[in-house]
Amino acid sequence: GIFRYTTAAAALEEPIKPPVNVKYDKLLINGQFVDAASGKTFPTLDPRTGEVITHVPEGDAEDINRAVSAARKAFDEGPWPKMTAYERQRILLRFADLVEKHNDEIAALETWDSGKLFEQCAKIEVPMFVRLFRYYAGWTDKIHGMTIPGDGPHHVQTLHEPIGVCGQIIPWNFPLVMFAWKVGPALACGNTIVLKTAEQTPLSALLVSKLLHEAGLPDGVLNIVSGFGPTAGAALCSHMDVDKIAFTGSTETGKIVLELSAKSNLKPVTLELGGKSPFIVCEDADVDKAVELAHFALFFNQGQCCCAGSRTYVHEKVYDEFLEKAKARALQRAVGDPFKSGMEQGPQIDSEQFEKILKYIRSGTESGATLETGGDRLGTKGYYVQPTVFSNVKDDMLIAKDEIFGPVQTILKFNELNDVIKRANNTRYGLAAGVFTSNLDTANTLTRALRAGTVWINCFDTFDATIPFGGYKMSGIGREKGEYSLKNYLQVKAVVTALKNPAWL
Ligand code: NAD
Repeated sequence: GIFRYTTAAAALEEPIKPPVNVKYDKLLINGQFVDAASGKTFPTLDPRTGEVITHVPEGDAEDINRAVSAARKAFDEGPWPKMTAYERQRILLRFADLVEKHNDEIAALETWDSGKLFEQCAKIEVPMFVRLFRYYAGWTDKIHGMTIPGDGPHHVQTLHEPIGVCGQIIPWNFPLVMFAWKVGPALACGNTIVLKTAEQTPLSALLVSKLLHEAGLPDGVLNIVSGFGPTAGAALCSHMDVDKIAFTGSTETGKIVLELSAKSNLKPVTLELGGKSPFIVCEDADVDKAVELAHFALFFNQGQCCCAGSRTYVHEKVYDEFLEKAKARALQRAVGDPFKSGMEQGPQIDSEQFEKILKYIRSGTESGATLETGGDRLGTKGYYVQPTVFSNVKDDMLIAKDEIFGPVQTILKFNELNDVIKRANNTRYGLAAGVFTSNLDTANTLTRALRAGTVWINCFDTFDATIPFGGYKMSGIGREKGEYSLKNYLQVKAVVTALKNPAWL
């Protein structure tokens, strides 16, 4: 049966044996799996228990140099950027087919390394990965420039060319999906890549990259370095031979990434950073549906989403009913082994995040918010946290300002639309917002007034390959997914040809 969190502790005692083996646990440089130059390794852990899954190489500046050289050579000498778009398209489509064939194996590895629910990985994330690569495969032969009339007797055209060697740094909360958001458009545009995986989740990228080579990707086009941020990550951002950086992670680290680029070769940087997204429940809302959606908006993926609906603003007319039901819903949340069918929540990624979340929960209580349910760890091992709900939250409390990145819902009351607009926008972030209303005018007003890269009306976390995603303010620079993502990976070259005889002569 399904264990609700109050009785789940017993269910957490015997972790299910992962139905997968680790096949690849090295660096991937120039098509070869290799050790770090230093010979050093570090462990990657099972978040269910804190036990070691395997050791991976601790890549540092020397390995980044090797990977960048391979990517540089693959870009400068080809064949990748020089292939026809159709050839690149066929490789990406073959890759998507192979990933689809290995769906459950890839999903299981992702679950083991990250603690994400197996059902979520197998039914949503790996299929989304496949969809993203098919989407970007479709773009390869539709990338082209313009002809421009110009002012004089010349022919003006623009060429859209790949930008070169792309450095990409991804986080641990969606290892495969972040891989697809970054590697997909970069490859579609004909670039080569050095990808640094998050230190908590190095494994799934290696497995899919093996399939990408089986699909025909030439050696050196995609290189993968596992390692830590301040060493491997920083070396990539500072490298003089890297032409572009794409980063997803915290706002603090995003600032460092931008600074390292500025101090080296001014490579363009796109950033996908943190958020503290409002979820606004209006007075006309169907409360049951609003509770369910607000619950999903916050608790999905153990609360480890950059766009989590982490400030639940509820209109005073429906506040009391909403609060009772939100609390009841959190109490019903099925928490347990992510390999177990029917679970809704697994463990947090690691001890650092786990401790940070518990610290924020203490801060919520200390600052005078009301702890309605949850508030503690669950079980005695691994990094499980009880689904937690705070009410009576005020905008100036830390739990309403900082990104908690855990299963902690903070509920705030509002009475007027203008008031909630001001409060929702009163944050350094601007990643996303959710609005729950049946009034079209209210929806339109909020949509235009909210300063966020995405506004979801009566839905949340609706991600598909075609929809652009990115942040206003300190939530980032640039957009990923959709057509907008391509320009991150292209240079525009203007070609001006003198015309001897203008057409009208
Ligand atoms: P982080 O930003 O430090 O790490 C993200 C990636 O950046 C990792 O691959 C890491 O190795 C790399 N990195 C770290 N320092 C670097 C540096 N100096 N130069 C280059 N790369 C560097 O995030 P974290 O420590 O894993 O998590 C901390 C907080 O960040 C979380 O609690 C959460 O609030 C937020 N976060 C946000 C996202 C997101 O999707 N926006 C993802 C993960 C974490």
